[in-house]
Amino acid sequence: MTSIFTKIIRGEIPCEKIHESNHAIAFLDIAPYIFGHTLVVAKREEARLENLPSEEAAALMNFMQEIAGAVSQAYDGCDYNAFLYNGPDAGQEVPHLHFHIIPRPPGVMVNFRTRLSYTDDERQKTGSQIRACLKKG
Ligand code: 5GP
Repeated sequence: MTSIFTKIIRGEIPCEKIHESNHAIAFLDIAPYIFGHTLVVAKREEARLENLPSEEAAALMNFMQEIAGAVSQAYDGCDYNAFLYNGPDAGQEVPHLHFHIIPRPPGVMVNFRTRLSYTDDERQKTGSQIRACLKKG
């Protein structure tokens, strides 16, 4: 079955896109734990990390590094969490391989049981702030 992330990758559902490569796409999570919460999604429709061809897994990690750096820089070089729910028993809800990047600005509590929502303006500003921190070239 086509996942909701495949529909986003195909442009059938809108997203606040941060960046895209041959094998992956990054966009803001629609219901963030904290503003700036970004998903890095493999373009191949596989749910599990070990099912990705190794060269695509390597490309995904390189892309992750680039996106995580931009998320961090967007919040003054803050720390961040980067994690994966690999399968339903691990908490995966969308069965399409993706990592979460969660900025952790100092002194800001993140409640991993609560989701926030953006206004359109907040979402666009957050996306622009992160995109502006991508390294050029
Ligand atoms: P997981 O599968 O790792 O448990 O979580 C899937 C994540 O995708 C959730 O954090 C959820 O908020 C996010 N998500 C689900 N549907 C959409 C969507 O249509 N657009 C965006 N941007 N994020 C989504």
